[in-house]
Amino acid sequence: MILDSAFKFILDLLFPSFCVNCRKEGRFLCVACEEKIIIKRVPTHLPNAPKISAIYAAAEYHDKTISELVIRLKFRGIAGISDVLAGLLTRHLELARFAKKDGQIIVPVPLHKKRLRKRTYNQAELVAKTIAQYLDLPMRADVLKRIKNTNPQTEISDRQARRENVKNAFACARPEAVKGKTIILVDDVATTGATLNECARALRQSGARSVIAFVVAH
Ligand SMILES: [Zn+2]
Repeated sequence: MILDSAFKFILDLLFPSFCVNCRKEGRFLCVACEEKIIIKRVPTHLPNAPKISAIYAAAEYHDKTISELVIRLKFRGIAGISDVLAGLLTRHLELARFAKKDGQIIVPVPLHKKRLRKRTYNQAELVAKTIAQYLDLPMRADVLKRIKNTNPQTEISDRQARRENVKNAFACARPEAVKGKTIILVDDVATTGATLNECARALRQSGARSVIAFVVAH
């Protein structure tokens, strides 16, 4: 523990954190900028996600601070940002009065193994882990597999093309773990909901009772 905090102290000296919005030193998101983010108070509906019974999205992706945090988490390997994003999501869950139930399982939206190798971590899993601890629910990163290495949805603007791109991209690898359960999918961003919907299709085909989703932004 002492070693851990000494190590963190040295890391902070070498790589101080700056607020992604105002550049103030200390944290990836300073208190003043965090207070300016509008956290939603109700669950969201996404047009391409009929198989998801409820979607909890903390904030709007076009909020500059949010998109900056998500981009850094995804592309620059700053894993510490996942705690900041998970914190925004937990605030949304409180405001939207999400009530957990026993038997629910947290499942991060997986990356294809080739992309995981390149990025070394799955940003959705980092957020999911913190949320699972917060809700005291089990997280299973092994039940869902990405079997198609699709193009990033963010590079596709057309809604129909997004749906085609992720079609049958996922498979449930552990049907016995999802049978009769409510699955909570976790991802950093959802745009039309097509990716979440394909995950839900695979899980429900394997016997999941229902699927809901938590995303940081949409
Ligand atoms: Zn700031």
